[in-house]
Amino acid sequence: MSDCVFCNIVGGKIPSALVYESEHVIAFKDINPQAPVHLLIVPRKHIPTTMDITEEDMKSIIPEVFAAVKHLAKQFGLEQDGFRVINNCGENGGQTVDHLHFHLLGDRQLTWPPG
Ligand code: AMP
Ligand code: ZN
Repeated sequence: MSDCVFCNIVGGKIPSALVYESEHVIAFKDINPQAPVHLLIVPRKHIPTTMDITEEDMKSIIPEVFAAVKHLAKQFGLEQDGFRVINNCGENGGQTVDHLHFHLLGDRQLTWPPG
């Protein structure tokens, strides 16, 4: 989608601090980090929200999301102390970019519950 910021990052039309790439997903640094490590894991395919994930996406894309989580946790030294993976879905979830993404936050003590 030409007006989608994450599609434009995937397509190289908007710059990003890319940290990981695989067949179906990429990851880059969040532009407004909420922790010392704040990465976004983003499918290359434009999927608006979690509710739009298809059965085929479940087999091809979603496993790569969690492969990326594990890879990046090691790459950024988070595997010992822990980290958080977040998907904000829809208005009540606080989703602001309508292209499916997973936040990976770490390198500080995170509090619970979230706001
Ligand atoms: P959400 O509120 O879950 O939709 O999260 C969207 C995230 O995308 C926010 O944390 C933003 O800081 C981040 N974001 C928006 N535009 C960009 C961009 N061009 N590059 C990197 N991160 C971005
Ligand atoms: Zn998109």
